[in-house]
Amino acid sequence: MTMFRQNFLTKEWVIMAPERKARPHDFEFKEEKGEAPEYSPRCPFCPGNHSEKHEEAIFEIREGSNWVLRVVKNRYGLLSPEIKAERSKENFNLKVKGYGFAEVVIESPYHNKNFSNYTMPEVKNILIAYRERYDKLSAHCPEIDLVLIFRNHGRLAGTSLIHPHSQIIATPIVPLSLRTSLLGARTFCDEEGICPFCQLIKEEKSKKTRIAYENSSFIALCPFASKVPYEVWILPKRHSAKFEFREIELEDLADVLLKVLSSLHKIFGDFSYNYLIKSAPVEDYNVEYFHWHIDILPRLVTHAGFEMGSDIYVNPVLPEEASRKIYFNASSR
Ligand SMILES: [Zn+2]
Ligand SMILES: [Zn+2]
Repeated sequence: MTMFRQNFLTKEWVIMAPERKARPHDFEFKEEKGEAPEYSPRCPFCPGNHSEKHEEAIFEIREGSNWVLRVVKNRYGLLSPEIKAERSKENFNLKVKGYGFAEVVIESPYHNKNFSNYTMPEVKNILIAYRERYDKLSAHCPEIDLVLIFRNHGRLAGTSLIHPHSQIIATPIVPLSLRTSLLGARTFCDEEGICPFCQLIKEEKSKKTRIAYENSSFIALCPFASKVPYEVWILPKRHSAKFEFREIELEDLADVLLKVLSSLHKIFGDFSYNYLIKSAPVEDYNVEYFHWHIDILPRLVTHAGFEMGSDIYVNPVLPEEASRKIYFNASSR
């Protein structure tokens, strides 16, 4: 069983997960270099293999008799819905039993598919699955307070399997970093009378120096204080604190995500990255001061002692230069 433990000084949470050591790894160096086969007999997610045989789909998209996307319970997930999120103290240390949900979105039946070769219908299916599971898991409020969707790609991003997949984790706690962003956003909104992200979109559109891509419903920006080289935020132009999109916005969301990631693939080849969908906690869904967005974090540099000790990141690439390159490669797709 896993356990959340809180740092008593900083209030940051850690999940203690000793059984994680048993996770499967299917990496082979040649596969990482873009030579992965369409099907791998050792992969648990490929059709006919372990996942399909033993794990019921929580959500599925089918074409004819075959699945094209499956969402399953994460067998090696950190959290479990079967236990209660009891809080207790050990002296002054707070701990919470590892209650929550952990799911895997198997994005494609093909082992070697990715954002470098996905088609628009494939990306749309992924986004539909995200929205479906996001809404279903949010309905567990008040036990669940945060639903986080993320994708790790490449060994440096912490992936243990090559097969294209994303993950969804729903937790009973809100991490300190999100609490800090929410507080900053709320203060900004109180002072300026507008959501800080809506204001950001306005200002970046007038400056035009950090726009990485744009269509009618979404804008991709390299943030002013990017923590890592080529960090990109994808923001909806329509204000919403909660992760959501309307049917008419689906095409544009798939377009911006595919254009930005395939542009980065063109620049760096098969690079490692994480992306995270940052949404307000479930209890704050209707607030005026938060605005959901996707944060893409390429793993192009390694952070070391200085960053860990100071929380000050050293970024060798200006966002103004990164956005220009992404824009150029996204437009010439
Ligand atoms: Zn596979
Ligand atoms: Zn907004």
